[in-house]
Amino acid sequence: MVQDLALTTQAKINLILDVVNRRVDGYHEVEMIMQSIDLADELYFTKIEEGIILETDSTKIPTGPQNLVYKAANLLFNKYNLAGGIKVKISKTIPVAAGLAGGSTNAAATLIAINKLWELNLTVHELRSLGAELGADVPFCIKGGTVLATGIGTELEPLKVTPRLDLVLVNPPFSVSTAEIYQSLDLETAIKHPNLDEMIQALKEEKKLDIIFAMDNLLTHVTMNRYEELKKLENLILEQGAKKVLMSGSGPTMLGFTMNKAAAEKLEARLRAKLPKEYVVKRTKTTSQGIIIK
Ligand code: ATP
Repeated sequence: MVQDLALTTQAKINLILDVVNRRVDGYHEVEMIMQSIDLADELYFTKIEEGIILETDSTKIPTGPQNLVYKAANLLFNKYNLAGGIKVKISKTIPVAAGLAGGSTNAAATLIAINKLWELNLTVHELRSLGAELGADVPFCIKGGTVLATGIGTELEPLKVTPRLDLVLVNPPFSVSTAEIYQSLDLETAIKHPNLDEMIQALKEEKKLDIIFAMDNLLTHVTMNRYEELKKLENLILEQGAKKVLMSGSGPTMLGFTMNKAAAEKLEARLRAKLPKEYVVKRTKTTSQGIIIK
């Protein structure tokens, strides 16, 4: 029987993020195209005699019951009355609270790892339902790729083609409260919604430039009105060679897209030279997988 498992857990961006309705229960109905990128954390799982023990190289995440990995493990241990315990080492690369679903992808990997280590034989569908109990992005992270998400973000329809996009992400040294941004979003006033159909068409036809120009995030204006410096950052990324800049989730991470890898390498170098050290600047690319078992 397997005792140890190492998993690579990839981050997520939204090529389209639209909010179409605010329900009476407070949930927002969304239309999103979610996309895995090859920026990843490494998680190492080991069976132990008892308990849930977390170790991490990051000072920014909790190691107790607040950690999404702990919550995911706890959910399965309680639900299936599992014998023994688990130790998880979390090696963090995905910036925390950056709108990149770092915690969600770690939680998804934990469900997958425990499913394997304890031979639970849960299907992807079952793992996604369990994931929804932990957070709206977790069901997507179970498989990743390129996915249309509707409802409150948990109704998923995989799209057949993953676009090959090169990008540089810039994570400024401050965080944005997702709840606060959604609360300030006023769906009554005229705001231009992203064009989902145009994006789906561009993805089907695999036209890179059309895909890049169809990318849009409804929350951009809300976040940028509150954090003026993000407008400056957007301009800088454009000036330094990006074809397009997209805000990730509710921010503050900004994504600069280029037409190829060489252009992304140049953009990364220029932004590193221009921005203070506290800004995380990382070149990455889109990928068709969320979690990789090593
Ligand atoms: P999303 O895009 O899904 O809203 P995010 O990328 O903005 O998420 P995360 O990196 O998942 O944000 O972190 C959100 C919060 O979750 C942080 O306050 C962090 O302390 C907490 N957290 C708990 N467990 C983890 C984990 N394993 N990795 C990262 N953050 C975690």
